[in-house]
Amino acid sequence: MNLSLLLPATAIQSRSVVSSSFRLFLLAMLLPFLLLIHPASFGQSPSRVGGYTYAGPGTVNTWWIETKDSLIVIDVQRDLPHARQALHKVQAIGKPVRAILITHGHPDHFAGLEVFRQAFPRSDIYASQTTYETIKNDPNGYMPFMKKIPGNETFEHANVPLPNRIFADNQTLSLAGVDIETKELGIGETNGGTAYYLPATRELFTGDVVLNNMQAFFLEEHSAQ
Ligand SMILES: [Zn+2]
Repeated sequence: MNLSLLLPATAIQSRSVVSSSFRLFLLAMLLPFLLLIHPASFGQSPSRVGGYTYAGPGTVNTWWIETKDSLIVIDVQRDLPHARQALHKVQAIGKPVRAILITHGHPDHFAGLEVFRQAFPRSDIYASQTTYETIKNDPNGYMPFMKKIPGNETFEHANVPLPNRIFADNQTLSLAGVDIETKELGIGETNGGTAYYLPATRELFTGDVVLNNMQAFFLEEHSAQ
């Protein structure tokens, strides 16, 4: 930063005669204000959220929250090619992925776990108990169906890393200095979904519960419940 921009005009005009000790005095006086402008606790107030959207039929989002030193990713795409595209966007930021949060157990939200885990082996995968069991057991038989979709041929259920951090219903997570509230939504578009909320920025990640100009996925027939 050019400190001359912060000095009064009279000081700039006469800076050739300002002693170095006086400049140090000015710097000492300004330091508390500079720290307020650039808080060291950026991680306590996540201000940057990015996203990648697969725009084809059955569109799906991947989101990421940038903290001071790392990234928190939410959902990882429907197949390996699109997971790699989302990964390239994430890698361009230049920070490691600390955690991956899954909203629910539909394959278009977790099929890319293999891609992200290979790129960031130290990342933890977070999910509710219901989502964990759905990914593990595929109770609706989605995996054989997904493999028939062009572009998904490299997607193998056995290669999907399972969530290794299971949170209790409505637990608040503290990840990389960021508080993230989880909200269990119960049976709906799937057999159990989680919304993630950042109270610091009032941003809400809903998975497939809130949709814009498209039809929800009703094939699981939970509407009676
Ligand atoms: Zn879904």
